[in-house]
Amino acid sequence: MRVLMIAPPGAGKGTQGALIAAHFNIPHIATGELLRDHVARQTALGQAVQAYLDRGELVPDQIVLDMVREAMIAAKASGGGFVLDGIPRNMEQARAAYEIGLELEMTADVALHLQAGDAELTRRLLARAALEHRSDDTPEVIAQRLALYHEVTSPLLAWYRGRGILVCVDAMRSAPEVGREILATLEAVHPSLDRAPPRERPPWA
Ligand code: AMP
Repeated sequence: MRVLMIAPPGAGKGTQGALIAAHFNIPHIATGELLRDHVARQTALGQAVQAYLDRGELVPDQIVLDMVREAMIAAKASGGGFVLDGIPRNMEQARAAYEIGLELEMTADVALHLQAGDAELTRRLLARAALEHRSDDTPEVIAQRLALYHEVTSPLLAWYRGRGILVCVDAMRSAPEVGREILATLEAVHPSLDRAPPRERPPWA
């Protein structure tokens, strides 16, 4: 199972990504988590990206693409499945991730879109701020991250729809309800992937 998630901040990428990873026994590759870990450890990379995270801006593409390439190579060695969380965020990253997938013969089977409205997302992110103290869960930075999602990330949905791999799930419900629907949807995709002989698979698979 090879899944990437396209979702606005607060839609539940982290929670649902972890659920998918555990269910299919595949690595959960979360770029935001990897970046926050570098910041927490104050590595050179962490120091270089901290200001981007604090402002709710995208870090330079090459930084996340290098991370993802490395994680995908490790994923290939551990069976070839993955769930990508937080990437791609723009068209350049989508194209580059696809190229990496082609090169490693592991392009995504499913682009999973978690749908939720801005008012609900803002409410959830502010609630999370009280618990987790993330530097980017302030009202101003939340607004910036949502605007960025609408401007540069959501246009990717049409691209994945065109590739025939887009699946949309309503994320305005509780996490367990959304999780159940995601797993049922992915399970429905999964057997057909397993059965398809390689030469009959479409070019994106
Ligand atoms: P997330 O945990 O996915 O909400 O990401 C938190 C922050 O990490 C984002 O606001 C960006 O600053 C940065 N980030 C995560 N993934 C990417 C990416 N694919 N490209 C650029 N920046 C990213």
